[in-house]
Amino acid sequence: MSTSERLIAASEARSAHNYHPLPVVVAAAEGAWVTDADGRRYLDMLAGYSALNFGHRNQRLIDAAKAQLDRVTLTSRAFYHDRFGDFCEQLAELCGMEMVLPMNTGAEAVETAVKTARKWGYRSKGVPDGQAKIIVADNNFHGRTTTIVSFSTDAEARADYGPYTPGFEIVPFGDLAALDAAVDDNTVAVLMEPIQGEAGVLVPPSGYLAGVRELTRSRNVLMIADEIQSGLGRTGATFACEHEGVHPDMYVLGKALGGGVVPVSAVVSSRDVLGVFKPGEHGSTFGGNPLACAVALEVIAMLRTGEYQQRAKELGEHLHHELGVFVGGGAVREVRGRGLWAGVDIDPAHGSGRELSEKLMDRGVLVKDTHGSTIRIAPPLVVTKEDLDWGLEQLDAVLRG
Ligand SMILES: *Cc1c(COP(=O)(O)O)cnc(C)c1O
Repeated sequence: MSTSERLIAASEARSAHNYHPLPVVVAAAEGAWVTDADGRRYLDMLAGYSALNFGHRNQRLIDAAKAQLDRVTLTSRAFYHDRFGDFCEQLAELCGMEMVLPMNTGAEAVETAVKTARKWGYRSKGVPDGQAKIIVADNNFHGRTTTIVSFSTDAEARADYGPYTPGFEIVPFGDLAALDAAVDDNTVAVLMEPIQGEAGVLVPPSGYLAGVRELTRSRNVLMIADEIQSGLGRTGATFACEHEGVHPDMYVLGKALGGGVVPVSAVVSSRDVLGVFKPGEHGSTFGGNPLACAVALEVIAMLRTGEYQQRAKELGEHLHHELGVFVGGGAVREVRGRGLWAGVDIDPAHGSGRELSEKLMDRGVLVKDTHGSTIRIAPPLVVTKEDLDWGLEQLDAVLRG
């Protein structure tokens, strides 16, 4: 038995089986590469679902974390700490917003966005108590809490978790007329991913996000962009909304905000909106802790230079050009995406996404399937063109084989 096999058996023995990992045991990592427990190297083309946009153990982020570890790591929000103000100011500035409410995981930030929108609806818009409605898109993925799965259309994610939280209406993603028809006087927000990640990197029709912006503005409804996966460089811009010149009322951020080091999430919005909270009305023990702020501040500084966005844009054009060649080659039905982010639909006759992922693993490339026959490609933005090309060669070989 190899070390990896032994470690997999130990993992399976005592963990809940809420995941079905590829049989690879990562023991070390650097940049776009990971090394398994038996010393084999793999190119990481998933990047922790975009939590690792800056690569594994990015030196700037590790240095920031280490320096903070030697000073103070946790205070709780019962006290102020010396990194908090800078973090809020610089994140707000990066987003072109005014205020920040920090949390830890993405789902918590989405929950925070839901609470914010409802409170804003009652306090500011004048919606009758208990009547607030939030509109979401089908095939959405916003996290795993009971409220969030209440408005999921994914049967697997949702089954057996009722009773479900009311107050949400689901419309088809990309259909502006359906959204228009769903908005009523009690609608407080439209919550959407500008590009749907878990659904298979679904890009809405051109003009849709701009249409959502116009519609929400004219009806006094908040536009909430869940950029937890699409944001912070992945698509070749800081935010995917920028591709349509859209500035939402609220950004929900997570994943890459923590630099692949610690979980950091946040809701970022205007003073009008986030100003609805008073002490005691919402919170988190770990949200905005010193270590989180120190790492996120470095992430923000790295994003301010624009170099990662530029890399994602250039390498992304190359990636999509290369993947485009695969389309029509038999095995690949469709490729979607933007920047260094692609959903590749495989003809099921060539095997499931899972089978393909396993074959790629055997060739030293890690990807993750989603929804049966789609694989998602999202390498760290620091991947070199040579490594990316090598990864694509392996994909080509697997698709031919
Ligand atoms: C990953 C993700 C979330 C949930 O984040 P967690 O940190 O896993 O709770 C929410 N929204 C989107 C778009 C995501 O990709």
